[in-house]
Amino acid sequence: MHHFNYQAGELYCENVPVRRIAAKVGTPFYLYSAATLGHHYRVFEAAFHGFPHLVCFAVKANANLAILSLLARLGCGADIVSGGELHRALAAGVDPGRIVYSGVGKRGDEIRAALKAGILLFNMESSQELEEINRIAGHLRKKAPVALRINPDIDARTHPYISTGLKKNKFGINLEEALADYRRAQELPNLEVVGVACHIGSQITEISPFVEALERLKELIRRLQELGIGIRYLDLGGGLGIQYDQEEPPHPREYGSELLKHLQELDVTLILEPGRVLVGNAGILVTKVLYTKESEAKHFIIVDAGMNDLARPSLYGSYHGVCPVVQQSRPLVKASLVGPICESGDFLAKDRKLPAFRPGELVAVMSAGAYGFSMSSNYNARPRVAEILVQDGEFYVIRKRETYRQLTWGEAIPEFLK
Ligand SMILES: *Cc1c(COP(=O)(O)O)cnc(C)c1O
Repeated sequence: MHHFNYQAGELYCENVPVRRIAAKVGTPFYLYSAATLGHHYRVFEAAFHGFPHLVCFAVKANANLAILSLLARLGCGADIVSGGELHRALAAGVDPGRIVYSGVGKRGDEIRAALKAGILLFNMESSQELEEINRIAGHLRKKAPVALRINPDIDARTHPYISTGLKKNKFGINLEEALADYRRAQELPNLEVVGVACHIGSQITEISPFVEALERLKELIRRLQELGIGIRYLDLGGGLGIQYDQEEPPHPREYGSELLKHLQELDVTLILEPGRVLVGNAGILVTKVLYTKESEAKHFIIVDAGMNDLARPSLYGSYHGVCPVVQQSRPLVKASLVGPICESGDFLAKDRKLPAFRPGELVAVMSAGAYGFSMSSNYNARPRVAEILVQDGEFYVIRKRETYRQLTWGEAIPEFLK
C-alpha cells in the first residue's frame, strides 16, 4: 500500500500533485510520503504484537534525518553500520537504547563513539572484532553489550549481491565456530554477551529462509544455555522484500505471525532490522525527459536522472516501475530509460514497454525510497538531488539539491600548481 496514485490522470503524492512539486523544486528529486512510511512502520510493528520486540530501521536504506526522525517519533530504533550512521541516528533523535550496530568492518573510533552513546548492542562479525571491542570498552571503563552475528548458511534465494547468509559471503561468524567465539566473548572482561543475530540477505520474497535461519539460531541458543550463556536478544535482521514488479512478497503480517509461531517457547526480545520494506514503496524518483533518440536498433528516452542518482538498475539489474506524471493516451514503445552519465550501464529501465514519452515530460521512477538516495553519488560531477517529504497536504524540502560549490568542498590546489 502506498500513497502515489492518479487523480484525473495526474500522479499525486497523498493529495499533492507531483507536477506542482516539480514546478517548485526542479528535477530530479526524491519524493517521499510520510503517510506511507508511517503506515508501513505501524503495520510492521503490529505484526509482532504479543511478543517482546524492537524494530530497528536499517539506516543504510534511507538515512535522511527527516525520515529517521519520523520513524523515531513512532518509537522505531535504528540498525547502523558506521559511525556516520550513528551520527545521523542520534541527530535525528533516535533513542541510543534502541540502536544496534552491525557491519564487518567497525573501526576503533566508530566503536568508541557507539560505546559512549550507550547503544543497545553491537552485532559482532568476527573473533578479532570481539577482542577489539573488549579492548576499547576497557579503556572507556565500560562493558560492551554484544551479540554475535551468525552466518546460518541459508540460501535466501535473492540476487547474489544482496545475499548475505551463505557461508561464502563475508558476513557473520560460521555456526561451527560460534560456540568457541561465544566462550571467548564470555571470558573477556569488558564484554557482556546478550544476544544472537543474523541477517540473511535483502529483497527476500519467501518466508521459509527466515524460518530456517530462526531454527538454526534457536538450536544455538539452546546449546548456549547449556553452557550457561543466557541470551536476551534474538536479532533476525532485515531482508523482507517488496513488490517492484511481479514479485509477491509475504505481507509483514504473515511474516510476523509465521516467525512468532516458531518463537513461542523462547524467553528473548526479538529485534528486527527492516529497511526496504518500510521505505521502498514510500518514495519515488521524479525526473524529466530531456531528449528521445531512435536508431534502427534502439529507442532511448534520455532523462535528467542517472545511475549516480539511482544505482540499483545498473548495479543489480533491478526493476523499477516507470510512470508518467501526467497520463496521456498514446502507444507503448519498446525503449530504455537512460540517464546523462557517460556509461553504457547508465539506465533506469532497460528494453521495456514504456509510454512514448516526449521531451519536457515528467517521469516517476517508482519504489525508489530504499537504497535510492542513500546509494547516490556525485559521479560525473553531478550534484546530488533534492529530497522532498509530503505530509498532510504540504511538501517539505528535507534535503536541498547540492550546489556546485558543495561539489568542490574540501578540495585544494596545492601551492606547486599555482
Ligand atoms: C542491509 C541490512 C538490513 C536491511 O535490509 P533490508 O533488506 O533493507 O530490510 C538489516 N540488517 C543488516 C545487518 C543489513 O546489512
